[in-house]
Amino acid sequence: MDLAGVEKDIERVIVTEDQLQAKIIELAARVDKDYEGKDLLLIGVLKGAVMAMADISRALQRHVEMDWMAVSSYGSGTKSSGVVRILKDLDRDITGRNVLIVEDIVDSGLTLSWLKANLESRGVGSVEILSILRKPDAAKVKVDVKYVGFEIPPDFVVGYGLDFDEKYRNLPFIAVLAKHMYS
Ligand code: 5GP
Repeated sequence: MDLAGVEKDIERVIVTEDQLQAKIIELAARVDKDYEGKDLLLIGVLKGAVMAMADISRALQRHVEMDWMAVSSYGSGTKSSGVVRILKDLDRDITGRNVLIVEDIVDSGLTLSWLKANLESRGVGSVEILSILRKPDAAKVKVDVKYVGFEIPPDFVVGYGLDFDEKYRNLPFIAVLAKHMYS
C-alpha cells in the first residue's frame, strides 16, 4: 500500500522505502562479515518483524535458518509493560546455535531484554539483536542491540511490519501515526 491510501491517518513519513532498503543492505553486509564461517539462526518476532526478516534474510549472501516466536507484552494501549507471555515458541532446539533476533522496534527495551534472557537460558552459543528502529529516549532497560537501523523519536509509528490495531503493517515506509487516530 502506498502513501496515498493512508495520507489522512499519518502525521509524517520518518523513514522512506529507499532509506529502509539501503539500510537493510548495510546491516546485512555487517551481519555477513560478523558471522563469516559460523552458523546463523535468525529468530523473528511475530508479527512486526515479518518485513524486516524477509528483507534481511534475502540481503544476506549466505545460508541462514529462520525460526519465529510470538510474544505478547501486556500493556495498555500504546505502551508495553515488560510482562511477557510466549504465544508461539521456537520449532527447534537452539542449543549451541548463534542466534540473531530480528525485531522491528525497541521502545522501552523490556520485551527484548526478556526475550534475550529467555533464549540465553536455553544454552545458545550466542545471542545478538538486530532492530530496524530504536527509540533511544524511551530506554527503560539497557538492552544491547548490536545492529540498529534508525534511531527515531519517541512517537508511535506504523508501517514496515508495525501496526496499529493490526493495520498499516503493509506500508513500505515508516510513518508517525496521527494523534487523532488513537486519542
Ligand atoms: P518495548 O518492550 O521495547 O517497549 O516494546 C516493544 C514492542 O512494542 C515492539 O515489538 C512493538 O510491538 C511495540 N511498539 C513499541 N513502540 C511502537 C511503535 O511506535 N509502534 C508500534 N506499532 N508498535 C510499537
